[in-house]
Amino acid sequence: MRTLVKHGRIVTAVDDYHADILIVDGVITEIAREIRDPEAEVIDAAGRMVIPGGVDPHTHLESPSALTTTSDDFVTGSRAAAVGGTTTLIDFARQSKGGSLQQAYDTWQQKARARTCIDYCFHLIVVEMDEARLEEVPAMIASGVVSVKMYMAYRGRLMVDDGTIFRTMLAFKEHGGLIALHAENGDVIDVLVRQALAAGKVAPKYHAVTRPPVTEAEAVFRGICIAEVAECPVYFVHLSSRQALEQVQRARDRGLPVYAETCPHYLLLDESLYEQPGFEGAKYVLTPPLRAVEHQDALWTGIRAGDLAVISTDHCPYCFVDQKALGKDDFSKIPNGGPGIENRLSLIYNAGVHGGRINNNKFVDLVSTQPAKIFGLFPRKGTIAVGSDGDLVIFDPNREIEISAATQMMNIDYNMYEGMRLRGSADEVLLRGKPIVRERKYVGQPGDGAYVPRQRYRYP
Ligand SMILES: [Zn+2]
Repeated sequence: MRTLVKHGRIVTAVDDYHADILIVDGVITEIAREIRDPEAEVIDAAGRMVIPGGVDPHTHLESPSALTTTSDDFVTGSRAAAVGGTTTLIDFARQSKGGSLQQAYDTWQQKARARTCIDYCFHLIVVEMDEARLEEVPAMIASGVVSVKMYMAYRGRLMVDDGTIFRTMLAFKEHGGLIALHAENGDVIDVLVRQALAAGKVAPKYHAVTRPPVTEAEAVFRGICIAEVAECPVYFVHLSSRQALEQVQRARDRGLPVYAETCPHYLLLDESLYEQPGFEGAKYVLTPPLRAVEHQDALWTGIRAGDLAVISTDHCPYCFVDQKALGKDDFSKIPNGGPGIENRLSLIYNAGVHGGRINNNKFVDLVSTQPAKIFGLFPRKGTIAVGSDGDLVIFDPNREIEISAATQMMNIDYNMYEGMRLRGSADEVLLRGKPIVRERKYVGQPGDGAYVPRQRYRYP
């Protein structure tokens, strides 16, 4: 299979130039001013940017929670990702209590294999780490699962203690892995939640009130300290507040291998949405919660400075009508999470580049290159170069789209950005040279995506 992308403006994390790109059997074989190949399918990218396919390192597809399961499975969620310009996702294979790491990996492979529309791989979620589990670590890393996420909140279901975090860090860093943390002080939050409910405060907005920024900042600081003792690289998922970011900044200023991501909703939405009438606020019950608007400036500053290296979605969709409603009379029972896998590139291009906050190269870095580098996918993913996979997005920086749940591909009955008009959209998407989106319409097949084993951590 030969695909030739002509006349595009190639934008990577560092480059910006006009050239043609030839992809043969999935891999970029040539980049030159002018390429002719009579056998290749030609895609004309004139007037548009050609960027590496997005890498979303934080999604929850077909993921069971306490009372329900996320509404997008590996087919619908990855199809929505494709339409939005994302060609690789990293989901989470979750260990069950008493279960092995291998079982977690096998279970999630079963959900994803032959169904996913874009390339995929997994972080593990570890909930226990005893001797038998420690012995599995080298095999996990050899299967390309080089990162683990652990939760510092949700006691009784997901939360691990500091000793488990430390043991897991030691084991994974020894074999070339890294650790991601969901940083919130779960025990303090649990007390605040119980107090709120006892006082009759059951509405969605109390989800935010009971998870103040300092509970995030404390956990980030603790996570950094444990990682420093373990000499292990650490990555903080969904960073949401200025106070938490300050901890990351301080650690990075000291030269520690500490990384963090934020998500579009923390940059573009704020806690005033919880004040909407009735149960509407439940649409924004995600964790950490939306913050006061002044946190947004701090996060953008952190992005420009490189302290926030990645923008992921934390796509964790629950339908409003029959899933969010589980918490109608008790905010603590509202499934935590929101949708976003389809809209990441347009949201960040519009607010970031058109908003004058970042340039084109930084945009690519945040949504593709950095997640690929930190999580061991680079240079196969995350850039446009000879030898890299032919995952390309023909991106029209000026095309205007309007976000609406009525027209979206995500399998969910609302969108947090409903009605927002954005400039910047993926027009065509190639997955290893194969067109899977043409003129913004999905034309691929479930199973187009392949499992991508990841490389051991190298200092990016
Ligand atoms: Zn998440």
